[in-house]
Amino acid sequence: MHRTHDCGRLASRDIGREVTLCGWVKRRRDLGALTFVDLRDSSGVAQLLFAGDVPALSIAHSLNREDVIAARGVVRTRSAGNQNPEMPTGEIEVEVEALEILNRSVTPPFLVEGDGSDTTEDTRLRFRYVDLRRDRMQRNLTLRHRTLHTIRNALADRGFLEIETPVLTKSTPEGARDFLVPSRLSPGRFYALPQSPQLFKQLFMVGGIDRYFQVVKCFRDEDLRADRQPEFTQLDLELSFPRGKEEIFGILEEVIARAFREVLSLDLETPFPRLSHAEARRRYGSDKPDLRLGMEIHDLSSLVRGGGFRVFDDALCAGGKVAGIACPGCAGYSRSALDHLQEVAVRAGAKGLSWIKLASELTSPLAKFLSRETLLALRDECSAQEGDLVLILAGSGIEKALGELRLDVGRKEGLLEEGWRFLWVTDFPLFALDEEGRITSEHHPFTSPREEDLPHLENEPLRALSNAYDLVLNGTELGSGSVRIHSRELQERIFRLLGITPEQAEARFGFFLRALDYGAPPHAGFAVGLDRLVMLMAHEGSLRDVIAFPKTATGTCPLTEAPMPVDPRQLYELGLEPRGE
Ligand code: ASP
Repeated sequence: MHRTHDCGRLASRDIGREVTLCGWVKRRRDLGALTFVDLRDSSGVAQLLFAGDVPALSIAHSLNREDVIAARGVVRTRSAGNQNPEMPTGEIEVEVEALEILNRSVTPPFLVEGDGSDTTEDTRLRFRYVDLRRDRMQRNLTLRHRTLHTIRNALADRGFLEIETPVLTKSTPEGARDFLVPSRLSPGRFYALPQSPQLFKQLFMVGGIDRYFQVVKCFRDEDLRADRQPEFTQLDLELSFPRGKEEIFGILEEVIARAFREVLSLDLETPFPRLSHAEARRRYGSDKPDLRLGMEIHDLSSLVRGGGFRVFDDALCAGGKVAGIACPGCAGYSRSALDHLQEVAVRAGAKGLSWIKLASELTSPLAKFLSRETLLALRDECSAQEGDLVLILAGSGIEKALGELRLDVGRKEGLLEEGWRFLWVTDFPLFALDEEGRITSEHHPFTSPREEDLPHLENEPLRALSNAYDLVLNGTELGSGSVRIHSRELQERIFRLLGITPEQAEARFGFFLRALDYGAPPHAGFAVGLDRLVMLMAHEGSLRDVIAFPKTATGTCPLTEAPMPVDPRQLYELGLEPRGE
């Protein structure tokens, strides 16, 4: 028996037609002389009816959940009381004449049709092949496929070539640890899995490819969080002779808008808004602000300077600031709600939290130190109204904590607007300080500094801005890119500033520096985290729900049980010693 139709696509127009369906038994109901089986395939579910004295009936009685069958029969209208308007195929059923069991299933570890509450994520991942039958996974993987397909078409239409780059390669710094692969043929030597194809795509530009893209796996050995996976998929792209970053913005806006239109039937507004990194920090306390939420940060320093409150005056004297946010409708917050906010602020590095409640009366612990006029001026500066709560912090770098408070209150109070708020963040600093106080790249070392900062790089490296940009969607960083360095001299200068000696630069990046000597064109590029994009498009909260075979938070795969110990012989062949415990 060969399949002639898909279960979920049968409709009234098929009534009277003989069909053969194949799929999995979703459930079986025996009602005296009649037996019903709901049959599922990737398109949906159809009802099979076994009635009368057909030989198929006795086989049907033995069917269990997830058995795989083929059934031939005639499509009929369901009897009046049996119709199910909730089901796309709810008007019809197939009265079965012949049934073949293609394979039996043991009892599945959880219900495919369930809401997931009968199992743990670990079990779902261990039996991922059963989990993939769930509607939600089928929907998410279809959405993923359609998004990638649209993006590929959009870029191909724009003249981009998709070209693969090596997986066994040399370290490309993107700020994470490398995954290393020992070489058997060169004992004691290692390949690194690419943290991104950054250097290869730049070499494509030197090689005259002009416009490159790739849907590519990248590998970063980091401590995992909900929105991280050790291997993840990027949309990586690069182009030569860019008309500034504008050209990259235009291309990505077009590609993403097309994906939203074709996959979600949604029209995005383009161009996406932009904020400089400094402004994003100042107004939202974040370099990836969620614009679904208002609650901007207001600088209150000039209103409280010399006002008699020592905490504020000390902060201002030490070069810090006093700033606040208005939380709409939160004037009734209890002591414990305020304590929680205090904890959020302290965790984000702030010292203490001040507040003004604007209920019918204005109340605030600050009233002991500041005049009523000053408190009213603070209220007005924050555009707060009756019913609101104003939160105020003092010190250096308090924007981060105010940004956290903004998100905490905004989420809890349901103040985030519906919708898709994209944002370009531009003019990032070129460098940052790492935990040990050393200069590192804010993006990666191949990012070009802004022209006007070139003369001061050595004197004031931390003040230099770069031609890097990030794309943010609803407070999630979707990707980043930059106009690159294409002169060897400047690239060597940046390495020097990063504390990389000429010998180290030669050993790690000699092949790349040499390429810059051979006519490297100006170029720029970008990379989008596709797992994250698809996760947001699918309204999922975890990357694992949009990746077919993901890793857990500890980097393991419950399905295959990777990573695994290996045979000591394999280690020997690779010239490696097992670590003595
Ligand atoms: N290689 C960068 C990254 O993976 C993106 C880029 O600069 O194009 O984040």
